Amino acid sequence: MKTSTFLVIGGAGYIGSHLVKALIEQEHRVLVVDNLSAGKASAVLGGELLVHDFDDRAFLDSLFKTHQFDGVFHFASQIVVSESVKDPGKYYRANTAATLTLLEAMRDHDVGPLVFSSTAAVYGEPQYTPIDENHPTNAVNPYGRSKLMVEQMLQDFANAYQQQYVALRYFNAAGADPQARIGEQHNPETHLIPLALQAITGKCPPLQLFGQDYDTPDGTCIRDYIHVDDLASAHILAMNYLINGGDSGVFNIGNGQGYSVNEVIQTASKVAEKQVPVTYAPRRAGDPARLVADANRAKQVLGWQPKYADLTLIIQHAWAWEKSRH
Ligand code: UDP
Repeated sequence: MKTSTFLVIGGAGYIGSHLVKALIEQEHRVLVVDNLSAGKASAVLGGELLVHDFDDRAFLDSLFKTHQFDGVFHFASQIVVSESVKDPGKYYRANTAATLTLLEAMRDHDVGPLVFSSTAAVYGEPQYTPIDENHPTNAVNPYGRSKLMVEQMLQDFANAYQQQYVALRYFNAAGADPQARIGEQHNPETHLIPLALQAITGKCPPLQLFGQDYDTPDGTCIRDYIHVDDLASAHILAMNYLINGGDSGVFNIGNGQGYSVNEVIQTASKVAEKQVPVTYAPRRAGDPARLVADANRAKQVLGWQPKYADLTLIIQHAWAWEKSRH
C-alpha cells in the first residue's frame, strides 16, 4: 500500500491500538479519535490522538472537512455481554446508533472505505463448527445484536450509496504486542487469558472456571483464540482490498483451532511457571460450548495468514505484557 492517511476510531483500545502500531510501522499517517472511556492515550504508539466522542455529527463534519482520509477503521464499542443484557440501551446507543451517525457523515462527505469491528457473537449458538460466514446469524444477546444491526446497516448503505465496507467477525482476541509495549487492559476485565494470568500475579482473585459440564472432550468451553497482531494485519489487508476495489462483505477472523478453558489454564500455568489458582463455578449464561472459526474466506480473498496461531506464543506475549505492568 502507498502511504495513506487513515482515521482510526477507538484506536486507543486493545485491538485498535495494535492496528495503529501496524499502520505506523508501515509509515501511514494516522489520526485516532477516542474518548478514552476505555482506551488509554499511552496505548497510541504513533500518529495523532484526538480525545473526543465520535458520536457527534458536528465534530465529524468538521473532521471530514479539514482532513482527507483514504479510509476509516471503526473499533469503538461496548463489549461486555452480561452488561448488554442488563443495559441494552447503552449498547444500541453506543454500538448501533453511534455508528449510524458515523455512516451518515461518511456518506455526506464522501469518505470511505470502512473496516468495521464485528464479532462472532453475531452467529449466536452455533449450528455447526467450524463456523463459516454462511452460518445463520442468530445473535443471542444485545451485544451481538447491536453489532449485527450495524452489519445490516452497512449492507444497506453499500447498496444504496455505494459505501464500501468490510466487517470483520472476530473470534477471541488475545495476546499482546510481542515487545510488550501494549496489550489487553480492560476495566473490568472479563476475558479468560488476562484473568488467568492476573490470578497468578495476585492482581485478581482465583480464576472462576465457568462450567465443566459442556459437551466437549474435557467438559469446558472451546474457543478460537486469535492473536491481536493477526487481527490487526487482517484490518490492513481488508482496507487494502477495499481500496483496490474489492466487494464489500463480512469475513471471519480466527485461527480455526479451538482450545478448551482447561487447555488455556494449563498453557498459562506452563508459560508463567506457576499454577493458575482456579475455583469452579457454574456455567456463565450465554456461553456456547464451542466457537471455532472457518476463516478460509479471509485467507483466500484477503490473503490473510495468522503469524501467531500457537496458543503458547499468544499466552507468552500476554504474560510478558502482564509482567511489564507490575
Ligand atoms: N471463562 C471462564 N472464567 C472467566 C472468564 C471466562 O471460565 O473468568 C470462560 C468462558 O466461560 C468462556 C471462555 O472462558 O468459555 C472464554 O471467555 P471470554 O470471556 O474470554 O471470551 P468470550 O468467548 O466470552 O468472548
